[in-house]
Amino acid sequence: MALSPQPLIERRREQVFPDLDPLEIERMRRFGECRTFAPGEKLFSAGEIGPGLVVIIAGNVDITQSDQAGRRTLIVSHGPGQFIGELAQMAGRPSLADATAQAPVDALIIPPDQLRALLIAEAELGERIMRALILRRVGLLELGGGGPVIVGRTQNSDVLRLQGFLRRNGHPFQLLNPETDTEAKALVERFHVDPGQLPIVLCPGGQLLRNPSEDELARCIGLVRAIDPDRRYDVAVVGAGPAGLATAVYAASEGLSVLVLDCRAFGGQAGASARIENYLGFPTGITGIALMARAYNQAQKFGAEMAIPDEVSALSAQSDSAGDFVLRLHNGEEVKARSVVIASGARYRRLNVENLDAFEGTSVHYWATPLEARLCANQEVALVGAGNSAGQAAVFLAGQGAKVRMLVRRADLSATMSHYLVDRIQGLANIDVVTDAAVSGLEGRDGMLEAIRWRIGATGQEVRRPIQHLFLFIGAEPNTDWLGGSGITLDAKGFVLTGEDAGGDRHALETTRRGVFAIGDVRAKSVKRVAAAVGEGAQVVAALHSYLGTTTGHAAMATIPAARAQSS
Ligand SMILES: Cc1cc2nc3c(=O)[nH]c(=O)nc-3n(C[C@H](O)[C@H](O)[C@H](O)COP(=O)(O)OP(=O)(O)OC[C@H]3O[C@@H](n4cnc5c(N)ncnc54)[C@H](O)[C@@H]3O)c2cc1C
Repeated sequence: MALSPQPLIERRREQVFPDLDPLEIERMRRFGECRTFAPGEKLFSAGEIGPGLVVIIAGNVDITQSDQAGRRTLIVSHGPGQFIGELAQMAGRPSLADATAQAPVDALIIPPDQLRALLIAEAELGERIMRALILRRVGLLELGGGGPVIVGRTQNSDVLRLQGFLRRNGHPFQLLNPETDTEAKALVERFHVDPGQLPIVLCPGGQLLRNPSEDELARCIGLVRAIDPDRRYDVAVVGAGPAGLATAVYAASEGLSVLVLDCRAFGGQAGASARIENYLGFPTGITGIALMARAYNQAQKFGAEMAIPDEVSALSAQSDSAGDFVLRLHNGEEVKARSVVIASGARYRRLNVENLDAFEGTSVHYWATPLEARLCANQEVALVGAGNSAGQAAVFLAGQGAKVRMLVRRADLSATMSHYLVDRIQGLANIDVVTDAAVSGLEGRDGMLEAIRWRIGATGQEVRRPIQHLFLFIGAEPNTDWLGGSGITLDAKGFVLTGEDAGGDRHALETTRRGVFAIGDVRAKSVKRVAAAVGEGAQVVAALHSYLGTTTGHAAMATIPAARAQSS
């Protein structure tokens, strides 16, 4: 029998719970304030915003989690020289666990803004603390503890949607299936939930949500907060993919106030990549979500604020009376900023097949992550696409035991896919590349796919296979609908024009509107790669400095009408 791997908290205990020496605590004092707690007193509770990082000087504190039946589990007991906190404390978000004093406690409380200052000012100590905060979050993700509880059937499309959302945002959660789990059954009865109303979500603060939208769930668990209408950011970045996060890291670390908005999750398309092998410095490759989570935490360490999920629905055509750009959000809120960086990337193309939407969310997938791999373990799956993202997904799924039928329109892969991936696919016996193939029909019911048909070009012959999962990797279109009427000129395919194409004296990454820049996949003529997006994210910061240096708070009025250039 295979031994289950030891939990991360045990494997890396010394890094997860490091001991600070008295000199280090002395150096930390200038960042916080001392407080005392009586035995039994709560330092903070799950679901509520805590005071920040807590360094214990004397006494003991238990960190516990409660389940839906009210049972408490001890995660760890902290003593003198240890500190309490995880990533939520760095970002000032609600705590994921309860902390209770077990004896009279003297503690140093370091609020989130001072914690970020400490992480930057104290390089070596900061690194140890940051590593511990990240590892503690990874440990909570592994345990599935501390977050909301989703109650619903494993294969239900809304359950998959909510799971996918929390997972992509690095937030722990638990899933309970009322068909197999007695606790879930008890919850459904306790809250008088009709099976048709599932899933329900129980938030750590005790609120019950019935099949919530991602936005409702995010607000309930404190992932996203209301925008301060009086705040004026130096730069607002639309999109938290690699381009937007790179801007956030470089701009915030150079002292600019930054707000990053994303309508879904951090990481963008890169966050969906099963393994990025061509990003500089990672010779063994890295999963997209791991690379992006590092960037997301790094940006917050430098003080960039995140508004995720928050969808930008418009950039106003004119600056307001103070000369600020105004971004309008889908929920009616507004963001004011002295400059704007468009990093809204691209979204996946859908297949032109009747009834595709009937199977999206359950059987048709646009990502291949461990979540999808679990759904189709040891099954035959179909995957459409011939680019690098399709190749990576096929290799990943095959590595998880699936038999992959890779449906490709052309006669071979070499024109559209990197050589190393073509080689790898050829070396895997459980990937079958079917060339000259186009999906012609989907069969199934109740949202569950039962069979896929495809036609072979040369012969017109139709093949039917009993396949329950279809993966689509057929390219992307720019996310620029929200720019209509903004004064930003797009090319014929909807990508944002910059530099010379936007007007004579523009910075290379500046759009037709002064003070508004575009980077990454959304920019016309950009190279569609993670490294290119990150490079542009860093490069734009120099342009931001020079633009902000020339304004005295009055950004130029938009004079160029929204239009798509006629060039192809
Ligand atoms: C599956 C897959 C695998 C890939 N693998 C590789 C690889 O191995 N190597 C490589 O170099 N490249 C790879 N790529 C390409 C790479 O991921 C992209 O080039 C890169 O992510 C582009 O970054 P970006 O920040 O410009 O845009 P994106 O990554 O597209 O991010 C844009 C973000 O903007 C957000 N957004 C859009 N509209 C709005 C709005 N109105 N309001 C708020 N937010 C908005 C989106 O939610 C998204 O998070 C892969 C792509 C995919 C899909």
